[in-house]
Amino acid sequence: MGVAENIREIRARIADACLISNRDPDDVKIIAVTKYVSLERALEAVDAGVADIGENRDEGFLRKWDALGGRAAFHFIGSLQTRKVKNIIGKADYIHSLDRLSLAKEIDKRADGKVKCLVQVNVSGEESKHGLTPEEALDFISEVKQYGNILIAGLMTMAPLTDDEAVLRDCFRKLRELRNKIRSMKLPHAPCEELSMGMSNDYEVAVEEGATMVRIGTALVGKNDMEVQEDEH
Ligand SMILES: *Cc1c(COP(=O)(O)O)cnc(C)c1O
Repeated sequence: MGVAENIREIRARIADACLISNRDPDDVKIIAVTKYVSLERALEAVDAGVADIGENRDEGFLRKWDALGGRAAFHFIGSLQTRKVKNIIGKADYIHSLDRLSLAKEIDKRADGKVKCLVQVNVSGEESKHGLTPEEALDFISEVKQYGNILIAGLMTMAPLTDDEAVLRDCFRKLRELRNKIRSMKLPHAPCEELSMGMSNDYEVAVEEGATMVRIGTALVGKNDMEVQEDEH
């Protein structure tokens, strides 16, 4: 299927999920995750109306940004090494993977103005996943205040890899509750409006539970291995 067709399908499913949960589909941003695909495929997505691109490595991010930077907003969604911050700063509209103070410090140092960041939370507690526990996230966000260029725009999580809808829903609901709690604190440096959650296999549940950003790769642009081979050296 072409990208345009995939987008129509995904938008329709998001609209259904919004209907169920009494939400406005305009409040859900679709981020096309292009890490598995070529620049041509990413371009096809932008031509088809995608306004947000997500990449998880700096090489892929820069390659797509160099070509499409003016035509879409760019989201850095992967774990970010401190020494790579300088490569993406000023280019990433959002960094979804803020998970430690040393990273906040480096972003703050390199930034020329406010940088919108999402704090990555490991809701499920799986060892293999990056991110802070919900308890740690609260302390972390209050400590980030010292870094004046960091704006905590929201929270991000990756759900466990499962088809068990109850498990997924529980994970997304917990992230929403944490977001609500932080938002209600009305911290000037942490408006915390965004919930970045939901991928190809679970975005409908995520939207029902309040996602404002879904990160969709395979179901939107497909998965061809050419760039993965290039990246994995
Ligand atoms: C790859 C990736 C996605 C998209 O995954 P799909 O299952 O292909 O939709 C979303 N979020 C993050 C952080 C990713 O690394």
